[in-house]
Amino acid sequence: MFVVDLANTVAGATRSGRDELDSPRALGDLVTSSGYSGRVDLDEAELAEVRAMRERLRRIWSLDRAAAVAEVNDVLASARALPQLVRHDALDWHLHATDAQAPLAERIGVEAALAFVDVIRTNETGRLRRCAAGDCDGLLLDLSRNASKRFCSVRCGNRMNMIAFRERALGGDGGEPGAGDWLADQG
Ligand SMILES: [Zn+2]
Ligand SMILES: [Zn+2]
Repeated sequence: MFVVDLANTVAGATRSGRDELDSPRALGDLVTSSGYSGRVDLDEAELAEVRAMRERLRRIWSLDRAAAVAEVNDVLASARALPQLVRHDALDWHLHATDAQAPLAERIGVEAALAFVDVIRTNETGRLRRCAAGDCDGLLLDLSRNASKRFCSVRCGNRMNMIAFRERALGGDGGEPGAGDWLADQG
């Protein structure tokens, strides 16, 4: 999901350990690989707006349900979102709520808000989680059936699994309950 990919470009969540949304070109690559349609300026102003939106959206992970509602409604209202079914490129009918020529940060915010709408109205905000790896700032939206996903990436799952394995090998007491399950929930 694009909002999660965007959220996890911060330095504390990337494989490289650096902020991967650090240039208009990097933003362009992210947008292109995500299949975003519509206006893209690829300039510093747009980059600054998208970076600010990234922080705003990341903050929603730390809000309770009522506070998340207020934030989501504010994103939708300030963009004057107008839901419309559209069909473009190879895609069948789907929902857009901003004009294709609206600024990229605004369109990203509205698309994310629509995803949050579904999570909130189905009372599934517990699926908005921080990565369980203590050294990672990654976020995840767990859409798995049993809501068991704990890590933002396979990389984090493998790393934590290795740490648990070493602790057990060092003669610990068998590790915390469930530690052995980590291999199973990297998906
Ligand atoms: Zn579309
Ligand atoms: Zn992680």
